[in-house]
Amino acid sequence: AKSEGRNNSAYYTDGLTRSARERLALESRLRRALLQEQFVLHYQPQVDTQSGKVVGAEALIRWQDPDEGLIAPNRFIAVAESTGLIHEIGLWVIQQCCRQGAIWLQQGLPPVRISFNVSAHQFQREDLLQQITDILLTTGFDAAMLELEMTESALMSQHDDVVHRLQQLKQLGVRLAIDDFGTGYSSLAYLKAFPLDVLKLDKSFVDQLPSHQQDAAICRAIVTLAHTLGFEVLAEGVEYEAQRDFLQQIGCDAYQGYLFSKPIPPEDFASLLQSSMVD
Ligand code: C2E
Ligand code: CA
Ligand code: CA
Ligand code: CA
Repeated sequence: AKSEGRNNSAYYTDGLTRSARERLALESRLRRALLQEQFVLHYQPQVDTQSGKVVGAEALIRWQDPDEGLIAPNRFIAVAESTGLIHEIGLWVIQQCCRQGAIWLQQGLPPVRISFNVSAHQFQREDLLQQITDILLTTGFDAAMLELEMTESALMSQHDDVVHRLQQLKQLGVRLAIDDFGTGYSSLAYLKAFPLDVLKLDKSFVDQLPSHQQDAAICRAIVTLAHTLGFEVLAEGVEYEAQRDFLQQIGCDAYQGYLFSKPIPPEDFASLLQSSMVD
């Protein structure tokens, strides 16, 4: 039994060392990725339920690794957060969104809002407001065309401070969206204290629409309450026409999902906007 115990602990220690080593390796690869500009943003269209037109684009990061190819954010965002690298990556994301938005306008494409994701760590940083202010100034991009997405957990930390931060961002003219809405612990009563513009209804409520009675009722209730509080509702993860039809019928304002398009590279997004001008 004694030797078995020793083996187990040896195995356990090895396991820890290995994962710590992997994390360190990933961290240094991420640093290099930043320096060598290996990150790219793909854009997913956001569609107005009434006009059917593309009114926005959510920017989603990918890592173009020379060896591994395109790497999805769920493989590196958590490590970027725990190492603090998320601040530099996040800054790059905001810069890139505003540069890209300015380029599309310059090319004469129809104006679309650009949404970007901010992790809770990033939102808590004192200098986020100043960073966004500077980027808007240097790129000339209109604040009203920029939308910041944060999750409920980012908002649920220190209440007073959060309200103040949101008000400052609002004053700058940036739109504010709450991501994955319904999966966190916030209530709409609590959220009315925040100057938000959009609730992004989480994909998990959309998946089984319209047949799932409870989910259908939840979606209806969220749309009604959100509108009462003056927020727009965008449904995430729309994959089927039946979901789209139901969401349109209950008064959802916009939707996003594979039914319309997956997130695509900027050149493809520009073509999509271009073709939407024709019809
Ligand atoms: P999210 O912000 O909730 O983004 C939505 C995710 O759902 C995206 O995955 C998108 O590709 C995917 N999606 C969109 N429509 C559909 C659909 O109809 N069906 C299905 N099955 N999936 C759909 P992605 O791009 O892999 O991003 C995953 C998460 O990584 C994002 O979730 C976000 O939390 C995080 N993320 C992405 N980009 C950034 C970034 O620039 N900064 C930070 N902090 N986080 C980011
Ligand atoms: Ca998002
Ligand atoms: Ca989401
Ligand atoms: Ca999510």
